[in-house]
Amino acid sequence: MAETEKVVIIGSGPAGWTAAVYAARANLHPVCYTGEARQDPAPVLPGGQLMLTTEVENYPGFPEGVSGPELMELFQKQAERFGTRAVGEDITGCDFSRRPLALTTTSGSRVSSHAVIIATGATANWLGLENELRLAQTGGGVSACAVCDGALPVFRDQRLAVVGGGDSAMEEASYLTKFASKVYVIHRRDELRASKAMQQRILEAPNAEVLWNKIPIDVLGDEKITGVRLKDTKTGEESTLEVKGLFIAIGHTPATGFLKGSGVALDEKGYIKLAGRNSVTNIEGVFAAGDVADAEYRQAISAAGMGCQAALDAERWLAAQGIE
Ligand code: FAD
Ligand code: NAP
Repeated sequence: MAETEKVVIIGSGPAGWTAAVYAARANLHPVCYTGEARQDPAPVLPGGQLMLTTEVENYPGFPEGVSGPELMELFQKQAERFGTRAVGEDITGCDFSRRPLALTTTSGSRVSSHAVIIATGATANWLGLENELRLAQTGGGVSACAVCDGALPVFRDQRLAVVGGGDSAMEEASYLTKFASKVYVIHRRDELRASKAMQQRILEAPNAEVLWNKIPIDVLGDEKITGVRLKDTKTGEESTLEVKGLFIAIGHTPATGFLKGSGVALDEKGYIKLAGRNSVTNIEGVFAAGDVADAEYRQAISAAGMGCQAALDAERWLAAQGIE
């Protein structure tokens, strides 16, 4: 095993790279395991969830907006400018019962580190339809984040649809009612999963309508979405809904599978539990940041803010151990 690192960062989204900028500037010489490109079933890419989007309009500092991949390239450059070392592998296993902490990578390498920052994100769940993913990645009007993309000019005064029946779907649909001419909520059952209060927002909105017992079976359109092909889950009948935007809100999956057996405390949905307002987990020297520990806000800026906190918490913890 190579020499022990001061801090290893797992994940290269806004949380991971921000943690790297702060750790590198604090002379902790961080290594960032960026993760590998894989299909899961939607792509998971080094650079994180923003690699799957075109225009980011709400990241401060970019008054004209910035493309997701361009923003993540800038994050990486800034982290590397201060000496962060990037390794293009996944972390596949963790042994946090020993000191220093031990990690295993895809190639089988073993990494030893005093502190670890976990910033592996949460992947938006997709329906898995071929045209859905294609149009999502090319800016064709399909997205997994209405709060991120819904205010784009292309969606203003248009007929839009949201898939899902949980709180996220209600929240996203409710947000879209401010811009859209009409918002359809496509739900596979005849009862919503969302809390009553969230349901009311949609059931009472004059420009929203729930399409009960429906699932999308195809997304229509070449460069831009023109509609969704729906199937009735009770009768099997098919129909076409014409829309200019489709927002998938069927849940997220936190990337915590590699923590199995590590002892890191997770909540019932698999998100990392934080001890308080900071980034401290239940294991000494292990910190978490971004969507992997935040099922609520799930925004690039909030993930970046948590990355900053994690690096500062790790720096203070290392100093308290006499490791500087
Ligand atoms: P992520 O960005 O998900 O990054 C996680 C990283 O961890 C990835 O690099 C991944 O490869 C890596 N990883 C995972 N497992 C491992 C492992 N075992 N080993 C090593 N690496 C691993 N937010 C906004 O603020 N504005 C927007 O406009 C916006 N648009 C969006 C559009 C879409 C379609 C989606 C899906 C999300 C959007 N978001 C937007 C949300 C935003 O992308 C996320 O909140 C943000 O990326 C979370 O950052 P993160 O660093 O926590 O995780
Ligand atoms: P969720 O509660 O798991 O709901 C997912 C929804 O998507 C369900 O209605 C589900 O249908 C549907 N769905 C799942 N897979 C599908 C598929 N393949 N095809 C079609 N539909 C599918 O997820 P969430 O809404 O993201 O909420 C996650 C957690 O965050 C919840 O605890 C929620 O309360 C919380 N949250 C709270 C707020 C808030 O209070 N402001 C906002 C957002 C989220 P079924 O109902 O048939 O299973």
